Amino acid sequence: MESVHKIISARWVVPVNESRDILENHSVVIKEDKIVEILKTEEALTKYQPDEKIALPGHALIPGFVNSHGHAAMTLFRGMADDLELMTWLNDHIWPAEGKWVSPEFVADGTRFAIGEMIRSGTTCFSDNYFYGEEVAQEILKSGIRGQICSTVIDFPTPGAETPDEGIQNAMDLWEKYKDNDYVMPIFGPHAPYTVSDEPFKKIIKLAKENNILIQMHVHETQTEVDGSIEQYGKRPIKRLHDLGLLGPHMQCVHMTALNEEDIEIIAETGSHVMHCPESNLKLASGFCPVHKLQEKGINVTLGTDGAASNNDLDMLGEMRTAAQLAKAVAQNAEALPAYEALALATINGAKSMAKEDKFGSLEAGKFADVVAVDLSDLESQPIFDPVSHIVYATTRNQVTDVWVGGKQLLANRELTTLPISELIATAIEWKEKIVKGREQTAEK
Ligand SMILES: [Zn+2]
Repeated sequence: MESVHKIISARWVVPVNESRDILENHSVVIKEDKIVEILKTEEALTKYQPDEKIALPGHALIPGFVNSHGHAAMTLFRGMADDLELMTWLNDHIWPAEGKWVSPEFVADGTRFAIGEMIRSGTTCFSDNYFYGEEVAQEILKSGIRGQICSTVIDFPTPGAETPDEGIQNAMDLWEKYKDNDYVMPIFGPHAPYTVSDEPFKKIIKLAKENNILIQMHVHETQTEVDGSIEQYGKRPIKRLHDLGLLGPHMQCVHMTALNEEDIEIIAETGSHVMHCPESNLKLASGFCPVHKLQEKGINVTLGTDGAASNNDLDMLGEMRTAAQLAKAVAQNAEALPAYEALALATINGAKSMAKEDKFGSLEAGKFADVVAVDLSDLESQPIFDPVSHIVYATTRNQVTDVWVGGKQLLANRELTTLPISELIATAIEWKEKIVKGREQTAEK
């Protein structure tokens, strides 16, 4: 018998592989940080000798979620300003609060807090567009999750960067330090077409192409953005980005509402990726991303929660359900984005957009053991004709019981193993009190 580290045996294994299998009574065999084999449980237990045997007879194992767009530290602003449209929300609430509060300490505390929430809901890799990337990197490494860090580049001064050039330098420094790291994945994060002018874009694309660095950006978040671009540049944002040479397989376009046929054609032709954030788009009334149309054109669509200040949670199970339902409503077609494809959006498609589909995003031999166990044994999950249907349409994040990243267990029977949950909660409460006090002082002046 071959010695391995872990065998996780479950009622179902949903690998999210090319053939979209659902395997019954199978085991995931793990050696060090990788999956060695996925095979029938009775065979696994005679072929391999594990250090640890985990039996989950009422569970389904799925690949860890890849939350492909968010602003982790903004979780500390959760519920601070709701029921406003995007520009009012940003101009009157979020940007002033960020100007006042965002510091390396805020980012470290907020990111750690967000990672706790993400692990508890089955996310094993997240993407982060924010400030102070080194603080984010440290929190990623301490917690054991994976994270793509998109260093912000924007025309006006931000925390950690007075100019776009400083933002670009921050991204390059982070990339130099972590380019070979499988947990911290630094890329460029220019904010949006309406906040970044042509010169910084030209510098970013030159460096991205020379060094093979990815780019993530908010694009076509609202119709207002599209109208503004036509007025300022005489063309739609997608066309402008295309003319600047920014689009391609290295490009992750977040939101993508208000698209016309030509926009979709350009995205398909260039092989750019689309990060769909349905709950943020719904809550800010930003618009609708035509997921079904994009998929019909062969475009890789991924799933993201966006920041908790506009969602208001970091729950990929909930996001996946919203995505599946919204795709049908937008396409006026109940066959749009079926359950298994919604699960692919939330896992392997995210890995593809990060050019990491050979490393994670599905449960397959040779990939990292980024595995999530979902408990389907209770009343709310019965009867089970199809476990994938339940995972997408009838499962909440409280049913996520165990999470492994690179074979290391980060959630064990709903308990975080690398983060102190009571400290995370206490820190969030402290920040809320500071923010409220600050607001009262501003009001008095
Ligand atoms: Zn965003």
